[in-house]
Amino acid sequence: AAEGAYRVRAVSAGAGRILVTFADVTQARLTERMRVDFVANASHELRTPLATLMGFIETLQGPAADDTVARQRFLDIMASEAGRMARLIDDLLSLSRIELDKYVRPQTATPLAPLVADVARTLAMRLESDERQLHIDLPADLPDVIADRDQILQVLHNLISNAQKYGRTGTPIAVAVQHEPGETPRVRISVTDQGEGIPPEFLPRLTERFYRVDTSRSRSLGGTGLGLAIAKHIIERHRGVLEITSEVGQGTRVSFTLPAVA
Ligand code: ADP
Repeated sequence: AAEGAYRVRAVSAGAGRILVTFADVTQARLTERMRVDFVANASHELRTPLATLMGFIETLQGPAADDTVARQRFLDIMASEAGRMARLIDDLLSLSRIELDKYVRPQTATPLAPLVADVARTLAMRLESDERQLHIDLPADLPDVIADRDQILQVLHNLISNAQKYGRTGTPIAVAVQHEPGETPRVRISVTDQGEGIPPEFLPRLTERFYRVDTSRSRSLGGTGLGLAIAKHIIERHRGVLEITSEVGQGTRVSFTLPAVA
């Protein structure tokens, strides 16, 4: 913070001693700015489906009160918008829970194979309806990882859902797991799709909350704009690294590392 603005936070003089502490005001301002932006963004994201809901409620109370066909169609839209609000609230709660214990490192030895199988089972129906196959490459002699099982489930769920949302019907999604032995042994898990890809200029900011390549497309696919932010927070809490590589027209690969049991 060489160019930061500093403010003297406290001065106390004891017997022959002076203690001065400085606070980096620039950093504090930045953090405050981010918090304000986040609340504004979250409110806006919640307001959008709410406005749609209110609009349809008014229509159903008035002009469309006796139109049974329109009523059914409107109710379907309302259900989907309410679902979007519920997902958004779930994601916001997830984020704040992860923030709360971001300094507590997970300690439990967790086998990966059943975890990957769990996610595959949960997503099977959705993938099938989209004619998508999940290719899983899991070595037999994989060490356990040190991880919070539920949180890693959530990361895998978010990444595979993205591969499905932004992929192409009929193309497979590959989940690969590799052991990277060494001084700090770790396991790398990657999710690769053959979808539309992401232009390079977007890559650095994708893990920011509510940052999307195409907001209306994300919304229409049921996205909240928080999936990758949640994934990054969780992986950082595990002292792992999340990486995104992509080529427009070819596809995207999101990988992350987790510490392995030595
Ligand atoms: P969302 O709910 O919008 O999917 P995410 O945080 O999961 O939010 O992702 C942020 C944005 O990154 C998405 O809106 C999309 O533009 C882009 N993205 C994420 N994963 C992929 C992918 N596999 N292929 C192409 N674009 C992706």
